[in-house]
Amino acid sequence: ASIFSAIAMAPRDPILGITEAFNADTNPGKINLGVGVYYDDNGKVPLLECVRKAEALLAEQLAPRTYLPIEGLAAYDKAVQELVFGADSPIIQEKRAVTVQAIGGTGALKIGADFLERFAPGAQVYISDPSWENHRALFEGAGFTVDNYTYYDPATRGVNFAGMMASLHAMPRGSVVVLHACCHNPTGADLTADQWGDVIKAVTEGGLIPFLDMAYQGFGAGIAQDGAVVSRFAAAGGPLLVSNSFSKSFSLYGERVGALSVVAASAEEAARVLSQLKRVVRTNYSSPQIHGGKVVATVLTTPELRALWEQELEGMRVRIREMRNEFVEKLKEKAPGKDFEFVREQVGMFSYSGLTKEQVEHLRKEHSIYAVDTGRICVAALNSKNIDRVIDAIAKVL
Ligand code: PMP
Repeated sequence: ASIFSAIAMAPRDPILGITEAFNADTNPGKINLGVGVYYDDNGKVPLLECVRKAEALLAEQLAPRTYLPIEGLAAYDKAVQELVFGADSPIIQEKRAVTVQAIGGTGALKIGADFLERFAPGAQVYISDPSWENHRALFEGAGFTVDNYTYYDPATRGVNFAGMMASLHAMPRGSVVVLHACCHNPTGADLTADQWGDVIKAVTEGGLIPFLDMAYQGFGAGIAQDGAVVSRFAAAGGPLLVSNSFSKSFSLYGERVGALSVVAASAEEAARVLSQLKRVVRTNYSSPQIHGGKVVATVLTTPELRALWEQELEGMRVRIREMRNEFVEKLKEKAPGKDFEFVREQVGMFSYSGLTKEQVEHLRKEHSIYAVDTGRICVAALNSKNIDRVIDAIAKVL
């Protein structure tokens, strides 16, 4: 028999499974709200103008495709640090932060997880309940035991903050706590600035290792506002890991551009951390890809392109807000007595809509509208052409 004869079929990725079912649906009016991608008002994944211009500049340079250094493009890593920690951050001046270019946000989390597994072995890892569906598998795959901390409260459709604080206080010292820096996926429910203050205090006093995952910087309140939590954590003085992704904010999903930044206690300690991060990268895939890193670095460091990016990102953020407002207003008309006001308060691309598994199934079977079983919908997949159909269908299944 083949050495693979006893291998069991691995479970399908639940989100990608929705897309497969969507693709197989022959109804021309089908709508996929199960995705984690920003679409423009024409239902297209945008190619940002700033990216197009940077690519035109790069194409003219006819640069050879050499290997990048293990830690990635220097200009990229520097630009990421300034974006994530703030350009005038004392952490950067003191050289306490090190950054490695990564294969998307997922790659950044994986480098961080492998690094922690070596230097904080046996630590307990905590993720929010619920969280991005890959967090658990990724940290378990790196060798950790993963538990949840209390986060979402379906009754209030917001954060169970007292529960979250109780979870933080109960974690053993040295535990790793994975936090969504902004635009919580999947719920859309974020902490307030005051609540973050309490979380930072509990994490610092409890001797926990914070791992901030920032996949949606700029989709909440703004680039600086969304990133503020990172500099607040950095200022608290303890160790810190930050994964960030440009998949959404640059609409560069397939280029796989992200980064991992680690804040250490001193420049000397940071240098040793960097040497170990490089070892993780070297033994996994050697070095990151060149194109996406160059595009992002060019945009971030060229003033006109940077201004254009900020404007385009604002455009995406504003369009999502408008869709949230329309969703609430239109449902108020079509489904009087049902309160969807909370959708307006949620932040980022996603909404825990409150739709039940059965309602999601009805949407799919009777209306060819696809959402996640948990009721998560991608607000960024709504547009002026499909929203009325979505609202009519939701009103029918409620
Ligand atoms: N973290 C969160 C919370 C995410 O939602 C995502 C992407 N959907 C990622 C990380 C991974 O980002 P990337 O696609 O850049 O790997």
